[in-house]
Amino acid sequence: MAGRDEKLQAIYEEVLSRNPGETEFHQAVHEVLDSLGPVIAKHPTYAEAGILQRMCEPERQIIFRVPWMDDRGQVQINRGFRVEFNSALGPYKGGLRFHPSVYLGIVKFLGFEQIFKNSLTGLPIGGGKGGSDFDPKGRSDAEVMRFCQSFMTELYRHIGEYTDVPAGDIGVGGREIGYMFGQYKRITNRYESGVLTGKGIAWGGSQVRTEATGYGTVFFVESMLKTKGEGFEGKKVAVSGSGNVAIYAIEKVQQLGGKVIACSDSSGFVVDEQGIDLDLLKLVKEVQRGRLADYVKARGASAKLHSKGSIWAVPCDIALPCATQNELNAADAKSLIANGCQIVAEGANMPTTPDGVKLLTDAGVGFAPGKAANAGGVATSALEMQQNASRDSWGFEFTEQRLATIMRSIHDRCLTTADEYGKPGDYALGANIAGFTQVADAMLAFGLV
Ligand code: GLU
Repeated sequence: MAGRDEKLQAIYEEVLSRNPGETEFHQAVHEVLDSLGPVIAKHPTYAEAGILQRMCEPERQIIFRVPWMDDRGQVQINRGFRVEFNSALGPYKGGLRFHPSVYLGIVKFLGFEQIFKNSLTGLPIGGGKGGSDFDPKGRSDAEVMRFCQSFMTELYRHIGEYTDVPAGDIGVGGREIGYMFGQYKRITNRYESGVLTGKGIAWGGSQVRTEATGYGTVFFVESMLKTKGEGFEGKKVAVSGSGNVAIYAIEKVQQLGGKVIACSDSSGFVVDEQGIDLDLLKLVKEVQRGRLADYVKARGASAKLHSKGSIWAVPCDIALPCATQNELNAADAKSLIANGCQIVAEGANMPTTPDGVKLLTDAGVGFAPGKAANAGGVATSALEMQQNASRDSWGFEFTEQRLATIMRSIHDRCLTTADEYGKPGDYALGANIAGFTQVADAMLAFGLV
């Protein structure tokens, strides 16, 4: 805690010893606690009521066995998780991640981030997260269906539209939400639309939910650029990843006049000097579930695939890390700074390492943390819940306008709070303090629960 606050340091050390080995969770907690010294000094009641310790301890953690049978008739066992972190502002809300790297520490880091992110949206949603170490890569539709059904056969008893509302994250998209919703509906014999978000448009989903995280990140950057009297026109943008967040970030940058010259997947990164061909990328990634090598093969001479090195060495004005945690490190930050990058905005959750963030901010690069810049996805999930609760469905333009307004308001809230605490332009500090304060005030109101 920069040696500033012994109380915060003691809380952090307790988190370390109570949650051994969960390094991503430690990192997420450290980043938030590091911002809160001045808040605790100004409002000692938060410390007296133990708000910080309570916030670092999930309200409930569920770990379960997920047995399923693969296409060869072999039994497979995975581990399922749901961490219901904080329900001060509303039902637990957050995605499910299916990826072999998932373990309790990843789910807790994501759930912890979600508390502050969801608070920043200004909508009534608490924080939670879940997932499994199941690897959907290379699995048939039938295998994914059987896995999702088995996963939901345990999860259903813990969730509900007023209790906990899961959605997608890495490895969980429309297909998986469909299979899980189908199983929930079958077990409970209820058409409870609001129990999951990210549903298909025909059965209770919201317009713009698919696009929302990527679009929202770009709306956030648009607001950052506006503070400098600039826009996207003529800007070169590098976007890591090529999943749901990256694809729709690329789409919105292109709509606003910017040029996306690079994207990536786990096999490497593509540089396409003529600008990424988004229709082709969507075909390869969303329809064929293929690799970037397939994109390059179909695209021809303008695109080059690099299987070594880092996408962040590609010169750009704006960098949008939209892949996964800790994908942009100190060396990457140095390359970006050397190449004159002006803005780094996180479409993924915690993609920049702490030393990377420090280098960027010290060099005056505008830095938008994920919990603010990627809040558009969960915000639109909350809009989906609103539509489900009122048995209504809104049009695309109206919903996109709501998303744009929410992103602008998160941007402004971060800046105003940073100003208030004497750190103008520090979006990370502003996001942490503004997100924290709203949750803390609700927890104070509820007493020691
Ligand atoms: N997984 C997304 C996130 O990281 C969205 C969660 C949701 O829509 O509930 O915020």
